[in-house]
Formats: sequence, C-alpha cells, structure tokens
Amino acid sequence: MTVRTRFAPSPTGYLHIGGARTALFNWLFARRNNGQFILRIEDTDAARSTEESIQAILDGMNWLGLAWDEGPFFQSKMFDVYRKHAAGLLEKGFAYRCFCAPAELEARREAALKAGRPPMYDNRCRERKDAPDAPFAVRFKSPTTGSTIFKDEIKGVINFDNSAIEDLVILRSDGTPTYNFCVVVDDATMGITHVIRGDDHINNTPKQLLIAKALGCVPPVFAHLPMILGSDKARLSKRHGATSVMAYKDMGILPHALVNYLARLGWSHGDQEIFSLAELIEKFSFENCGKSSGVFNPEKLLWLNQHYIKETKAEELAGLVLPFLEARGVNATEDTRLPKIIKTLKERSKTLVEMCDGALFYFKEKVEYDGQAAAKFLLPETIPLFKILIERLGEASGFSEKTIAEVFDSVIAEKGIKLGKLAQPVRVALTGGSISPGIFEMMDAMGKETVLKRLKDAAKFIEKKRES
Ligand code: GLU
Repeated sequence: MTVRTRFAPSPTGYLHIGGARTALFNWLFARRNNGQFILRIEDTDAARSTEESIQAILDGMNWLGLAWDEGPFFQSKMFDVYRKHAAGLLEKGFAYRCFCAPAELEARREAALKAGRPPMYDNRCRERKDAPDAPFAVRFKSPTTGSTIFKDEIKGVINFDNSAIEDLVILRSDGTPTYNFCVVVDDATMGITHVIRGDDHINNTPKQLLIAKALGCVPPVFAHLPMILGSDKARLSKRHGATSVMAYKDMGILPHALVNYLARLGWSHGDQEIFSLAELIEKFSFENCGKSSGVFNPEKLLWLNQHYIKETKAEELAGLVLPFLEARGVNATEDTRLPKIIKTLKERSKTLVEMCDGALFYFKEKVEYDGQAAAKFLLPETIPLFKILIERLGEASGFSEKTIAEVFDSVIAEKGIKLGKLAQPVRVALTGGSISPGIFEMMDAMGKETVLKRLKDAAKFIEKKRES
C-alpha cells in the first residue's frame, strides 16, 4: 500500500503555526514512507474562503519547502461529485430528505437546551413518507445505538457513543455540501491512507467513519495531534504574538529553523533538538508524537534560528538578507562586499532582521556618530593617528585582515600606544558607535575605499569640532 497523506486547509486566513505543523507532519509521514502528499483546499464555504488566503497558504507551504505531489485540489470545483454521492446515499437509504425549515430547527434547538436535553436534531424527517414540494436538506442517517470505535495512532483507542451523534446535514437546501461529507468523499476518492490533523477534529472522526462505511469505502488511519498552546497554556492565538507562518519569514526566521521547531512541537526523538530534513524524514513516527499539547516557545525558535544562521554559508545568507536591506532602502544586489559583510555578523545575529540592521552601517553614505562615542573617542589627538593610518592603508598593496592588522601593529608600535587607543577611535569613525564586529574583519569587509573615506571624514569632523 502506498501511503497517501493530505493537508486540507480551509482558506479562511493565512497559514498559521498549527496548520503548518499539520502540513509538516503529513509531509514527513509521506516522505518517510515513500508516499505521496496531497494538497486539498477546503473552500466549500464561499463566504469565508478568499483568494488571498489560498495564496497565503501556498506561499507559506512553498516557503517552508513542503512540496505537495498532487493538487491543489479545490472542493469548490467538485460539488458535482459530492452531490452524486449524496444521491447515492439517499437511494440506498443511508440518508434522507429533511424539510425542517431553519427557523423551526432553531426554535427546537433552543427548546431542547432549555429543557436540558442535548440540542440535537430530533430525527423527525427520518421516517417521513411524503415529499412536499419544498426545499430540503439531505441528512445522513446515523445509527442511534452502539458505538463507533477507532484506534487513533497518537491517542489510542477512542470510543464514541452513536446516540450522541446527530443525523448531520450532508447537503444543505441550497445544494452545497458540508465539511464532514466532503472530507470523506475526498479522502476516499483521493485514496488517502492516513489523516493527520489537529485534535480539534476528533469529534468529527466518528461521523466521518460512519459516512465512509455507508459509502462503502475503507476509512483512512487517523492520527490526531494535540493542539499548540501559548505560554499561558491557552490555545495558541493571535494574542500570543505572530501566528502566521509568513510573519516569521518577515521576522527573519529561516524556513528550516521553523520546520525544525515545528517538528519538535509535538514530536521528539530522545533529547535531540537539532534535526536536518533528512533526519526528520528518517526518524518521524507516530509513536514519538506526544499525547499532550506543546507550548509554543518563541525563545527556542530564536535559538534554533541562530543555530541555522551560523550553519548557513555567508553567500546564501547574503541572498536572504537582500530583501530586508531593500526594505530599509539599501540596494546591495550588486555589492560584492555583501558575503564578507554577512560573515562579520553571522555569529551575532539571531534573525535575518538583526543581521540586516547590523549591516546597515556598512552601506551608509555618511556615518552618523553616536554622541557619547564621538565625545569619548573622536578627539584631537586621534587626528595624527588617523592620518598615518590613512597613508599606510592607502599604500598597502592588499586589504586583507592580515594586511590591516600589520598596518595597525606598525602604527601602535611606532606611537607606543595600546591597540585599543587606535582601534576604538577607528571603530567610531567607521561605524559611528563603539561596538562592532571584530575591527580587522569589519574593515576588510567594508573595503579599502569606504574605510579611507570614513577615516578622512572623521578627521575632518574632529577638526571642525576643534574649531567651533
Ligand atoms: N479543513 C479543515 C481545517 O482546516 C481540515 C479538515 C481535515 O483535516 O480533515 O481545519
């Protein structure tokens, strides 16, 4: 049997963290078993489904690298299929026409609630023999006795009392099919073998199993993942911060960092935290999926992101940082210094945003000096130091870290000063502040031309300050 999994989002918003984890687990399970991963867009609710959401979901999946093998299939384009199956169920007596008007149903529901009874449909159209010329919905005839049992791959055996399952509407009076029905038809026609989804769907599972049985199809295996919680142990929602996958892209998170993070949110392999994609595929199994909810921890995501930033080649990071620089008005596409610049920031950036912000000083037309740093380090006595440095660096044949260090050594030896006496003023002259990546590495990355210009500008600045 070929494993076939699916991710079946309703396009009523962006791809959120919970959805992305569901997609990832389906993808991993399919890859683990050399199976196929199908993308199905559950857009039967025309009022709530939007094109933007569909695009946002596709963008999120693409960004995370969760490539689907088939689809996207759209439920809105398959209404004929659902109607055909509903007609089949009617014919076989597994479903019936319900002529109860919405207002009547609502009134009965309220009365049931008031009387302390479950607000379930009272099955009154079940045995109806007449066929009034009036709009009708199609309801599935659920068994009223016995139980529906299934073995969930994560939660274990689950038993539902059939008497608590109402005769659910499978086709509304306007002919549109409902969620539980479409899912069963699709999972059957698409040959889905494993349904991996959030445990908010667990109560739908017995309904879907009963419908599958009536349709005469083999139901898929189910694996329900516990919800993701926020730090306060409430279900993760917007009030816990960003929940959209693409918001994490905008925050400068690397896709694999998020994938690694999501994989560990509800699944584990001993104490291991860092997993390559190949390892995740190799090790993923339902046995190691947790039964209880995972708490979303942004700090841990940042820790993983920093790890992957360190692991990624500077050339690759340079490409990733470009759009962030662009958003801050820096076009560095043609700037050959970028990989070297990134190298100076790689070890100290938790996100691409931090890296971009840390890189901005390299590209400034004019350095803006921090007032305190300038007052402390850009002093008249540094002018001669800057002058010799400008001269020697200008004469030096290369501009490597090694050459720069040698020039510094020669200047401090000659002047009988400590390195800091030269390095700190130079740092302020070049970056505007007193904290920066390692001085030689940073100068090498900045390039000779910019370094010389900035040293000259700083000398002029000090002159001017002295005169005023
Ligand atoms: N469309 C459903 C949702 O977005 C998922 C249905 C399922 O996985 O069975 O919650």
